[in-house]
Amino acid sequence: MKTIAFIGLGNMGGPMAKNLLKAGWSVNAFDLSAPALADVVSAGARAAVSARAAATDVDVVLSMLPAGQHVEAVMLGDEGLFAHLPEGTLVLDASTIDAMTARKLHAAAREAQIAFMDSPVSGGVAAAQAGTLAFMCGGAVDAFLRAKEVLSAMGDENKIFHAGSEGAGQVAKAANNMLLAIHMIGTCEALAIGAANGLDPAVQSEIMKASSGNNWSLQVYNPWPGVMPGTPAENDYVPGFMVDLMVKDLGLAAELARQSEVDAEFGEKARTIYQALQKRGFGRSDFSVVLKSVLNSLD
Ligand code: NAD
Repeated sequence: MKTIAFIGLGNMGGPMAKNLLKAGWSVNAFDLSAPALADVVSAGARAAVSARAAATDVDVVLSMLPAGQHVEAVMLGDEGLFAHLPEGTLVLDASTIDAMTARKLHAAAREAQIAFMDSPVSGGVAAAQAGTLAFMCGGAVDAFLRAKEVLSAMGDENKIFHAGSEGAGQVAKAANNMLLAIHMIGTCEALAIGAANGLDPAVQSEIMKASSGNNWSLQVYNPWPGVMPGTPAENDYVPGFMVDLMVKDLGLAAELARQSEVDAEFGEKARTIYQALQKRGFGRSDFSVVLKSVLNSLD
């Protein structure tokens, strides 16, 4: 049986670790949060007292942490894992972090002869639970081929992509989520114009799905209450994917656009709109709640 150290067992990491257990992996788990750790231990994981203890005698290390500074804290520095892992260990960071930090981690891993791969996910909590996440990986091809075995225990085999070289996974993720924010806002605006002019949002959604406005928000995540069962819109915008996380991802995209001298005006506008939602107290609502700001009905 192969052993994996799993660091960060929150909303995403918890169900991902449980799917690894189901697939027959032995999981050494560590999280700063005792309840998060207890939850995966009840499913069969072994609790570790530190990230370093979790990563002792393992085949793979996987981190699923909030942001770049958390991943850096766990991996780098004298107490970080890179200084202590045996050469050749495969380390996967599935967190969504900035591409600069990802590249810094790759450089440190190369120095320590560790096979590192940035491997952020798409799909959210429901896909983490169902084991159908998409992974977008950045790093060397041989590390990617080794990573596939472990990633396919948590994701859809057909959605495990080698995005390119170091940091490419994080670039793909930030660009994707910027586009997601833009088409969600556009979908809300289109539906709002239709409804204000007497169209039934369900009928209009079917029309747009069969027409050139078709997109993922319409297909599986309709923001209009009463149109699509099972969406956050049907449950008072309980997430799903939180506005706070969308603001974080739009910040990563904005920084990439700035560094790359790309004029991402719509991405920037989407960031402003989501930041305004955050300021109005909707940070922990699902990102499709942006319909309320389009309809001027935030109160
Ligand atoms: P979360 O806040 O629920 O979980 C993060 C966990 O990391 C927490 O349990 C926290 O205690 C733990 N942690 C923080 N610092 C730590 C440290 N130094 N050592 C050990 N544990 C530590 O976040 P989440 O929703 O699980 O998201 C994790 C990552 O996945 C983020 O980068 C997020 O952007 C990304 N992501 C989230 C979603 C989503 O829908 N939630 C979707 C795609 C990607």
